[in-house]
Amino acid sequence: MFKKYNECSFCNSKKLKIEKFQNSPENFYIKAIKSDLSISSKVINKLKVYKCLECNILQSNPWFKENIGKKIYSNIYGQHNKNWSNILSFFNKKKLPDHGKLYEILKKNIKINNYAEFNSPFMGLLLNFFKDEYKDNHSFRKNLFNKILSYLASRQVAGKSKLHQKSSLIKSKQLLDDVLKLKKKNFLKKKITKYLFVESSSISWGQNDNYKSVNSKSLAMELFDLDIYDIKDSWKKEKLDLFGFFLTLDHTFKPKKILDFALDISKYVMIQIHTDPKLNKQHLFTFTERFVNYLEKKKIYTLNLNLEIKKSFKSPEMYFICSKNIKYIRLLKSKIKTI
Ligand SMILES: [Zn+2]
Repeated sequence: MFKKYNECSFCNSKKLKIEKFQNSPENFYIKAIKSDLSISSKVINKLKVYKCLECNILQSNPWFKENIGKKIYSNIYGQHNKNWSNILSFFNKKKLPDHGKLYEILKKNIKINNYAEFNSPFMGLLLNFFKDEYKDNHSFRKNLFNKILSYLASRQVAGKSKLHQKSSLIKSKQLLDDVLKLKKKNFLKKKITKYLFVESSSISWGQNDNYKSVNSKSLAMELFDLDIYDIKDSWKKEKLDLFGFFLTLDHTFKPKKILDFALDISKYVMIQIHTDPKLNKQHLFTFTERFVNYLEKKKIYTLNLNLEIKKSFKSPEMYFICSKNIKYIRLLKSKIKTI
């Protein structure tokens, strides 16, 4: 069930030092993992926390084998609770995901014509862009959300009678027409081009991240009019203005490769990370505050935005923007200082 991870998951260094503090509270992920894999707390406690002396992340060693890791985030706990509570809060309570003033700051200081995020589509700023692109009308928004859910669900006709399949075809067409009409009627201004990059082999929620049998990525495609690309495809399109990781960079086996990919195709990369001094057992690794020191050493220039966004943090987190081009960071720094 477990595998040795003797190298740091981010920088591959073998300089891992065991942490003094080893206890982490049992959360609902661990409860589900223990139950579905039929393992005891004693077995779970075999997972030990190490610190990478090179890039400062906290690494679990051992951790689950890759296939078990994937199973945890697809079958054992396939629905990404935060991802769905974000979108439901928006469409039910008019509440955007809490990133403080991040969206306003980025929009004011970076010319954003195209934007990408990684994996879970309702964790970052895509809902903010959506809100800006349409009229501020809550019943329109609710209506659109429900029509898209019904449209995607209406395509699920496997095992149904011929008659049902025939009437579903008409229903789907009607729902899709309604969706397009609603969007057209309430559309405000030119949309930015949006992309969602995914990694199917990731230890992240994906194939089973569903609500009312609709997958989050399919819903995001229809709602935000975005294109989905796999991170392993080569990118031959335009340079992106901004790429965002919102608590998703620590949910992959290849975080460095994915961050490098984002940095190479974008001017700016926005990153939100947990910087909890404890490593919860459902995580292969977690970032720390000192991780950005490592990036700077590797000529990935960073700007911490924790103070600027004025968010009231409920747990230790860090928001920073980074780039391989120091000019972009210097420019942004000078602009933000004058706010
Ligand atoms: Zn490392």
